[in-house]
Amino acid sequence: MQCRVCDSTNLELAIDLGEQPWCNNFLRPEQVGHEPYYPLRVVYCHDCATAQLDYTVKKEIMFGDHTYLSGVTQSLSEHFRRIAAEVDSRFFADTPGKAVLDIGSNDGTQLKHFQALGYEVLGVEPSITTARLAVAAGVPTLNAFFNADVARALGRQYHLINAAGVFFHLEELHSVTDGIRAALRPDGVFVVQFLYMKRIVENLAFDQIYHEHLLYYNIETIERLLNRHGLALFDAYLAPIHGGSIIAYATHQGARPPSERLLALRQAEAEAHSNSFATYLDFARRIDLMRAENQAYLRAARVAGKRVFGLGAPVKGNTLLNYFGVGPELVACLVERNPLRQGLYSPGMHIPVVMESELTDNPDLYYVLAWNFKTEILARYAPLRAQGVEFYFPVNPKDV
Ligand SMILES: [Zn+2]
Repeated sequence: MQCRVCDSTNLELAIDLGEQPWCNNFLRPEQVGHEPYYPLRVVYCHDCATAQLDYTVKKEIMFGDHTYLSGVTQSLSEHFRRIAAEVDSRFFADTPGKAVLDIGSNDGTQLKHFQALGYEVLGVEPSITTARLAVAAGVPTLNAFFNADVARALGRQYHLINAAGVFFHLEELHSVTDGIRAALRPDGVFVVQFLYMKRIVENLAFDQIYHEHLLYYNIETIERLLNRHGLALFDAYLAPIHGGSIIAYATHQGARPPSERLLALRQAEAEAHSNSFATYLDFARRIDLMRAENQAYLRAARVAGKRVFGLGAPVKGNTLLNYFGVGPELVACLVERNPLRQGLYSPGMHIPVVMESELTDNPDLYYVLAWNFKTEILARYAPLRAQGVEFYFPVNPKDV
């Protein structure tokens, strides 16, 4: 295998999460037990330091009809509104005819906020179901995988290009990055958001590792990728979204100097050795211990006769449940609000998903898989907590 960023063959296994089913594929009853398994392993590139999966599940399998909807959660929609307001006021508040392209535009939630600020918008979204939802909601959306060919076919350039959380699951990484450069005006801004690997390591949030996420970036490593394609970061900061994400601004190389806070992030990575192989090996050892602790905790709850439900059925929860080996004997069901998951079972562990609105009784303990919404969850379930229902967070994010 070659490194997805720099083409080096000097790669070494860092984190092995075993064979796992594709975690976004919640199963209908007749599919239970028939789901295919694929290796879930992170390798480290000794030449460019990028952490990445060594096995690719084909994008047509993964992105044909995914059930994640960005409009579903309150805090995510608020995050999208804030991003639009921030980018507009910093760069394009007084620009006539401003236009934005959103790559991986999902149900159009982000672009609606740009429409409200007077932008001409276009989304590119590979899931046909989701693209249709966006169009129905009044957001022009092209149902396609964005790449250099799609960029050429658009035949124009944009003031702003946004890519929230798609940049790490791109099979055609180099074609996509070339397409972004081609579609970005000389004075344009490319907003790239990605899960911050430094934070994943610090939070032990290994459940962010799944087949859709082929790449796990730090500032240093994403800069290598962008530089290779004539783009460069000029600003970045850490935001409390998905348990710790970087919001970064890029443009054509040489067009803008790096900000103080970008320099500070680079410095912090260097001081924490975030891009060294030893850091990843240590991470792998620590999540192994975490597995033993979680199994012991849930077994003790069962012995004590507690009823345990999972809270949320997020995609990443399946990485956690499968790696920990936590099935329905320990967590009876996954309580969810996304109606597209109604009546389905978790891949691998086969835990049934139950709609929150259908619950007739509360558990004694909620095992919180949607831990990245910790603040929101603790607030929303304050009345239940007051009644003595316990909430256990297997991952405890630092600052979200
Ligand atoms: Zn590399």
